[in-house]
Amino acid sequence: MLIDHLNQQLLERAAEGLQRQRRTAHTACAPRQQVRAGDGAPPRDLLGFCSNDYLGLANHPALIEAITSGVHLYGAGSGASHLVSGHSQAHEALESLLAQWMAPAIPQARVLTFSTGYMANLALLTALADEQATLFCDKLNHASLIDGARLSKAEVRRYPHGDLAALERQLSTCTTPLRLIVTDTVFSMDGDQADLPALLALAERFDAWLILDDAHGFGVLGPQGQGSLAQAGLRSERFILMGTLGKAAGVSGAFVAAHPIIIDWLMQTARTAVFTTASPPALAHALLTSLQLIASEEGVQRRARLQQHIAQLRSGLQTLIAQFLELGWSMGASDTPIQPLIVGDNAQALSLSSALDAQGLWIPAIRPPTVPVGKARLRITLSAAHTSDDIQRLLAALHEIARDFR
Ligand SMILES: *Cc1c(COP(=O)(O)O)cnc(C)c1O
Repeated sequence: MLIDHLNQQLLERAAEGLQRQRRTAHTACAPRQQVRAGDGAPPRDLLGFCSNDYLGLANHPALIEAITSGVHLYGAGSGASHLVSGHSQAHEALESLLAQWMAPAIPQARVLTFSTGYMANLALLTALADEQATLFCDKLNHASLIDGARLSKAEVRRYPHGDLAALERQLSTCTTPLRLIVTDTVFSMDGDQADLPALLALAERFDAWLILDDAHGFGVLGPQGQGSLAQAGLRSERFILMGTLGKAAGVSGAFVAAHPIIIDWLMQTARTAVFTTASPPALAHALLTSLQLIASEEGVQRRARLQQHIAQLRSGLQTLIAQFLELGWSMGASDTPIQPLIVGDNAQALSLSSALDAQGLWIPAIRPPTVPVGKARLRITLSAAHTSDDIQRLLAALHEIARDFR
């Protein structure tokens, strides 16, 4: 029964162009990888525009060395949760360095690390938002924030993406004692950014807190890569910031930075912090090197290269869209390494992705429910590890395919 039922649903998804397939990488995370498709064919060389390794650190020699020495110092696993015996000196050092990084934006900032960003977001929303709270969520928030809101006991109100007038109306009619505004800083499928100064002004006016998911800002934005708050130059006790360490930071994990009392509350009560094994200390040890790289002159240069790539790709996409207007393609209002090419139809997004694949280019088609119906797209992500020639090659391939589509 169960098997028949699931199989039927899988067939329906496939018929709607929603079936997903994994590929297997045979080499390290980098723009050029050997990748095997699900069909059993041998691995092929692909040029990818799909990882979140924005600075190209995931395979950086200094990080490989740091993680190796971390394993020699601390072994393979942590053995227990942080509150039992899994909290190591490496975790402690990572938390205090991150707290220093966040102190300019969040007075007295303290930091708690988590195994993943998904768990950090579940922790935040379930531990902070009780029956006395209302969560105000941008409709395009990441799935982990949506799930955290669902699991919390709070009332959940969603406002249309980026519509701060709608948010203001919702805040002005709210009667619960606690109000939490919840938003991605950089939206993961569109690459656009939340208006943080305006959000902070609303939070102050309506005495609300701001939960910010900086998964795609941390390491990438701000002069030293400290993220969206550093870029915006804002400072407030109202900020509760989640950053991930598996994207630009190139390793794995996440952290929450906030007022010390909030951090203590999370440490004591957040179920995804209390009831889970601490991540391997070697990862925290490697992340110390990662943070050093991000803030270093090399980090500055990597971010500058990334900005050049973004400008090159955007100007190329503009030309492409203008030249093939009848295809109805569009791009996002994004200054970040996430650059969607929105094609609309699921089947067209898939055939575009497979035509690129035939040319050795790996860019996944993103379809509902990850994005709204009718907004299927290629989600192009750029890395400092790409070269200008890589981007040129992608643009040339898109032109050639667009001609065939026309
Ligand atoms: C990737 C991502 C997460 C989850 O982080 P992980 O460490 O991968 O679990 C949370 N929020 C956003 C916006 C993300 O893009």
